[in-house]
Amino acid sequence: MFDHLPEFVDPTVMAEKQRRFSGALPFARMARLVDAVANRDGSAAFELGFAKEGRHVTVTGRVRAELALICQCCLAPMSVNVDVAVSLAVARTVDEANLLPERYEALMLEDDKVSLVELVEDELLLAVPSVPQHESCVSAIQKAQEPEPAPPVEARKNPFAVLAELKKTH
Ligand SMILES: [Zn+2]
Repeated sequence: MFDHLPEFVDPTVMAEKQRRFSGALPFARMARLVDAVANRDGSAAFELGFAKEGRHVTVTGRVRAELALICQCCLAPMSVNVDVAVSLAVARTVDEANLLPERYEALMLEDDKVSLVELVEDELLLAVPSVPQHESCVSAIQKAQEPEPAPPVEARKNPFAVLAELKKTH
C-alpha cells in the first residue's frame, strides 16, 4: 500500500482533500532510525490524516512500532513498544507556531512539501531514550550485590539431586 505513496506530499492539498495515509513503513527506509535500533528488519504501523482546522493545516494520527534497543547497563537487547499519538499543525514561522491551538505541535515547513517517511521517523526517534536501560536491569542488581561472597558450590547443591546422581552411578 505504501509503495503507491509519493515520498513528499503537499500538506495543503492533502488537507483540502482530507487525505488519510496508513500502512507499514519498514525501518530500512528510515536512515536515522535504523542506526538506533537492533531490529533493522522491523517496521512501523502508521495512520496519518490531513485536515483543515480554521486556516490551520493539521496532521493527526498514530505511529506504533516495537523497537529493539541495546540496554546500556547489561548490553542485552530490550524491547520498547512505541505507541504515539500524532497531533501536528503546519507553521511557516515561529510567530505562526506560537499562534497554534495548544493541542498541536508545530510542524515547521519552509516549502509546500512534507516527507511522510520523515514524519513517522521523527515521531519514533522522539520515543527512543538517550540512554536505553532495563527498568530493573539484572546487571545493575548483580553489581549491587557483588561485595557479598558467593556461597561455596557444594552448599547450594540440592541433596535430592546428589542422591539422584549417586543412584545413576549404580
Ligand atoms: Zn539491562
